[in-house]
Amino acid sequence: MRPFAYERATDAASAVAAIDGDAMYLGGGTNLVDLMKLGVHAPARLVDVSRLSDDGIEELPDGGLRIGGAVRNTVLATNPAVRERYPLLAQALLSGASGQLRNMATVAGNLLQRTRCAYFQDVSKPCNKRRPGSGCPAREGDHRNLAILGHSEACVATHPSDMAVAMAAIGAAVQVLGRNGARTIPLPGLHRLPGDEPQRDTVLEPGDLITAIELPALAFAGRSTYRKVRDRASFSFAVASIAAAVALDDDATVRECRIAFGGLAHVPWRATRAEQALRGAPATAEAFGAAADAELEQARPLRDNAFKVALARNLLVGTLSDLCEAA
Ligand SMILES: Cc1cc2nc3c(=O)[nH]c(=O)nc-3n(C[C@H](O)[C@H](O)[C@H](O)COP(=O)(O)OP(=O)(O)OC[C@H]3O[C@@H](n4cnc5c(N)ncnc54)[C@H](O)[C@@H]3O)c2cc1C
Ligand code: SF4
Repeated sequence: MRPFAYERATDAASAVAAIDGDAMYLGGGTNLVDLMKLGVHAPARLVDVSRLSDDGIEELPDGGLRIGGAVRNTVLATNPAVRERYPLLAQALLSGASGQLRNMATVAGNLLQRTRCAYFQDVSKPCNKRRPGSGCPAREGDHRNLAILGHSEACVATHPSDMAVAMAAIGAAVQVLGRNGARTIPLPGLHRLPGDEPQRDTVLEPGDLITAIELPALAFAGRSTYRKVRDRASFSFAVASIAAAVALDDDATVRECRIAFGGLAHVPWRATRAEQALRGAPATAEAFGAAADAELEQARPLRDNAFKVALARNLLVGTLSDLCEAA
């Protein structure tokens, strides 16, 4: 690993001022330090933002929550308001990594963790995301666990975060402090599809610091869930996952719903076509299947991952059926 300097930021403004071309923010380090050991990242300086004072969870006037960027994943998952009002978020967090990792990982770092594509992590291989223009061996190689939605010729990677999928379903807003001041980025909207610039995971600019994430009040998110399919029972990233919340009218039609998929795209994939198809529809397996088909019509599976289309469909139908049955 390349030697690096370490400094701890005392506030957000000084953290932003401390970042130059060769420095990176350090959250819990559970992704970044691994990538430094592998030679994927080689910053000359780390600016530790994991102990900024902005590390609490606060009530917002509209009934939502403001979560500091340095809040640890365990703290967020076990917060009583999150468990009660956003069960899909608590479940998504608890489905990820291990207890020890969640104790270290920060909310901001979780959002910005990088793809688990094996070629990206292996510096002896070409990879457009790591070295633009070098090629994408995953396209013809090992892509069983990679994207079926929104991928490009240049990159077929998936975004690995479970938490981000739940936040995309909720419609969270990411607060950012950059060199030109503060701004808000909606989720989805932070992460970007690869296009011909797969080296850019997000719309963030150099030096941008995630200071907080705001969850809007979402009355029906109390009836919500996160379901994850993975190759083994724990300590494993999603092959496919779904975050879903649903509100029913008295006659068992869907009044409102939120659906997002993980493990299928370079971004947490908000299933807006499925949501649109379901509003006003009967809460039946047939309607859920039709909504899944409306969304997955856009899928462009690769040679070895067409199974994800059926998997995502089954996830949507099964998850919404269970949510509505419990209603
Ligand atoms: C064995 C293993 C299994 C895992 N399984 C899962 C899983 O199943 N599901 C899942 O979702 N995740 C999983 N993870 C990933 C884990 O959730 C992430 O590593 C973690 O959330 C990253 O958070 P961090 O604070 O440690 O980030 P860091 O590693 O510190 O940083 C990650 C990135 O974010 C940047 N950054 C950090 N803070 C800020 C900030 N405030 N503003 C701007 N940039 C910032 C850093 O510069 C870096 O680029 C797993 C990890 C491991 C090692
Ligand atoms: S899928 Fe993306 S991350 Fe993986 S090898 Fe191709 S360019 Fe690199």
